[in-house]
Amino acid sequence: MKVLVPVKRVLDYNVKPRVKADGTGVDLANVKMSMNPFDEIAVEEAIRLKEKGAASEVVVVTIGVAKAETDVLLTARAMGADRAILIATDDEVEPLGVAKLLKAVCDEEQPGLVILGKQAIDDDSNQTGQMLAALLGWPQGTFASKVEVNGDRVAVTREVDGGLETVDLKIPAIVTTDLRLNEPRYATLPNIMKAKSKPVAKKTVADYGVDVSLRLKTLKVVEPAKRSAGIKVPDVDTLVAKLKEMGVAK
Ligand code: AMP
Repeated sequence: MKVLVPVKRVLDYNVKPRVKADGTGVDLANVKMSMNPFDEIAVEEAIRLKEKGAASEVVVVTIGVAKAETDVLLTARAMGADRAILIATDDEVEPLGVAKLLKAVCDEEQPGLVILGKQAIDDDSNQTGQMLAALLGWPQGTFASKVEVNGDRVAVTREVDGGLETVDLKIPAIVTTDLRLNEPRYATLPNIMKAKSKPVAKKTVADYGVDVSLRLKTLKVVEPAKRSAGIKVPDVDTLVAKLKEMGVAK
């Protein structure tokens, strides 16, 4: 069984985002970009399935700038992915456009499982996996904290409010990862060197003939409001009195 893992290149999670002066978006000039953390978890899970013998090949795909070939796609191959597909574009592609492109990749590659992140930390959309499942007509197990492949079925344990839910899906299926699924391995320097010889197929959006025109218009992006400084109270009685004043306590 082939496993396809879509990975997105996003602002590194350690970098504090700066909003552009004109309020049109986040400034990405000269800042560290990395693989979306949930996608690292997805790559790790796919590699573990291969190590257990449940998967035969791990293919990673990204839609984004050509530079991704030498950073996120290299990292994914160094972690253990067998090959990569780069769908190069400098334009923004919304989750629906990404899902349509991924559907076209699935039509070509015929994976048994597609493992995506539950959300990209830049747009926090949490849409792509669900839309891809709908476009393909495949079952989906989102927010996975455990994935077990048994023959032509996959059991996905999901983190839901108040507990864990396990769903049993028929392969081919879509899985999206939650934080506690695994701890991704590091891409070591020797593996990064070796990964350079693993293949990358270079494509463009036009190669897939799908409509990726934007449906959304960003009106404005602003920094979160600055938190005002708190006050210190001398004792518990004063604290309770203040909370009553604010209507927080009775
Ligand atoms: P989102 O719906 O934007 O929050 O993204 C959810 C997941 O879809 C991500 O964790 C990735 O696995 C995948 N994804 C989103 N955008 C892209 C992209 N441009 N290229 C590859 N995968 C993507």
